Amino acid sequence: MPDLSLSDHVALLDIPWPYIEKEARDRGSYILVLRLAEDRSLDVGRAGRFFFRKGFYLYAGSAMANLTARMGRHVARRKQFHWHIDWLRSVAAVHAVLPIRSSARLECTIAEALREHSAWSIPGFGCTDCGCASHLFGSPDDPLRSARFQRLLLSLRMDGYERATAPHA
Ligand SMILES: [Zn+2]
Repeated sequence: MPDLSLSDHVALLDIPWPYIEKEARDRGSYILVLRLAEDRSLDVGRAGRFFFRKGFYLYAGSAMANLTARMGRHVARRKQFHWHIDWLRSVAAVHAVLPIRSSARLECTIAEALREHSAWSIPGFGCTDCGCASHLFGSPDDPLRSARFQRLLLSLRMDGYERATAPHA
């Protein structure tokens, strides 16, 4: 109403329940953000020795079940190392873990997007099971303080929804 009073007309909101039931589960991908205080060389299991400049590191991973537990596993310090990122985690601080819930495995799409947003990458890191050049990217600045990175995160979280609910042409 022009005078800001409430209208008597009530409309039903169209809620896409099948989409919500499919997507609102504890699975999907995540971006782990680590902060490395000093330059480090590290032996990373059988992958060999890697050099890491000090700065912020963004790692793309996924867990198609128990996503919350996987993210918690990265936050906790472990004695048993399994993934490449476990070695870097052992000498770096967890800055953030950002879930991107989805029924699709998006970690390679996320890695590609992170590559475009980062200053450098660590070739051959975290990508033994896929065709990517890397799943780990570095930046001298805190990505959480970057408007560009926040827009990227939002688009990664919303793209699936927009695809699933777009009217079919
Ligand atoms: Zn990949």
